[in-house]
Amino acid sequence: MKKSPSIIAALALSGVVVYSASAQVGTLNARMDKAAEGLEKKVVTWRRDFHQHPELGNREFQTAAKVASHLQALGMEVKTGVGKTGVVALLKGGKPGPVVALRADMDGLPVTERGELAFKSEVRTEYNGQQTGTMHACGHDTHVAILMGVAEVMASVKNDLRGTVKFIFQPAEEGAPAGEEGGAKLMIKEGVLENPKVDAIFGLHINSQTEVGTLKYRPGATMAAVDTYAIKIKGKQTHGAAPWSGVDPIVTSAQVVMGLQTIVSRNVTLTDNAAVVTVGALHSGIRQNIIPEEASMIGTIRTFSPEAQQLVHRRISEIATNIAESAGAKADVTINVGCPVTYNDPKLTDQMVPTLEAVAGKNNLKITPASTGAEDFSFYQEKVPGFFFFLGGMKKGTKVEDAAPHHTPDFHIDEGGFVLGMKSLCRLTTDYMEFASKGVAVKELTASGTSGK
Ligand SMILES: [Zn+2]
Ligand SMILES: [Zn+2]
Repeated sequence: MKKSPSIIAALALSGVVVYSASAQVGTLNARMDKAAEGLEKKVVTWRRDFHQHPELGNREFQTAAKVASHLQALGMEVKTGVGKTGVVALLKGGKPGPVVALRADMDGLPVTERGELAFKSEVRTEYNGQQTGTMHACGHDTHVAILMGVAEVMASVKNDLRGTVKFIFQPAEEGAPAGEEGGAKLMIKEGVLENPKVDAIFGLHINSQTEVGTLKYRPGATMAAVDTYAIKIKGKQTHGAAPWSGVDPIVTSAQVVMGLQTIVSRNVTLTDNAAVVTVGALHSGIRQNIIPEEASMIGTIRTFSPEAQQLVHRRISEIATNIAESAGAKADVTINVGCPVTYNDPKLTDQMVPTLEAVAGKNNLKITPASTGAEDFSFYQEKVPGFFFFLGGMKKGTKVEDAAPHHTPDFHIDEGGFVLGMKSLCRLTTDYMEFASKGVAVKELTASGTSGK
């Protein structure tokens, strides 16, 4: 790339700034790293307490109370009850600069924990009318504990921070109970990204199948948009012995199910991104000799771009409606838009990758394939540039196939990665602040070698 004289002059100028800024960042980083290491035991203790006392989405009362009292003890301005049980705290640095938000989700899942951990959850509750165990089976207990640790680290270097940190402890990432609002969407609706306005947001997710010490990320579309659909096929009920006198919704549904399979295989541009259309339930009929009136199906849609999302929605409607019509039946199609794509802003990602390389070591930072799972962190990223990454939580030397996936009763997290998680969030925050308040590219800061290890 050719550089104009004015750009070269500006670069030379910024070079001077980089040098002095890096020296300061270097000592600040060293202090934060030391503080994070010193807090490891405390974070593990918090995590075990949260793990033993999980709460479902929008019911994180005790979790939120513990978080709030910790943040208050650190001298922060704390708001509770944001988006139901959410907690938001502000840490104003000693120097002016941007507002960086850090987010942790707090909810557990209706999963009954197996295994013999000393701090195993024995909590039982009712969910959707069923008795169930409750478990931190996605590792959100670790996110809460890590972010509490980060808050303590950052409070200890408060005077040297070039900006404000907004700590967001969010309820109901896995979805609010039926009929309730919740999660990131509700917190945003209640103004979590305003007053003061957030300039960038960072978040991490622990991963049970990634080794401790490893960080993973992906630029751009990282996790899928998730939408749900429901199709009701209305036929005409008749005797099972005389199908010609009715309209069979079961045979029609079977054709619709097969028709839906062509959306991904024949309509989606698969060289751009993957997509999924799943039929998750199909119900019809009551007796062997009755052709019923109706059939209904529900399913999930995963896409990685707004274009693919619109295309899939349109094709589901067209296929269901037209197949039903061709059979003399009628299809009612409802599509519920859920979470958007978890999309790592490419510019922000580019700026922050060197920070993660510096914290984890270059060989321990990996690019991960896009995941068809979803994450409601995506709602924040729709509003402000955001970066979401994954933290290793699998014991070193474990085979991936031996590590239980998220949302299962044997889900397990090795606690050895918590310090790396804390350091990552701390450094992303301070490097972003340096970048934003001085106009210095983070790449240059870390490349100077004073902030890396
Ligand atoms: Zn989950
Ligand atoms: Zn999760």
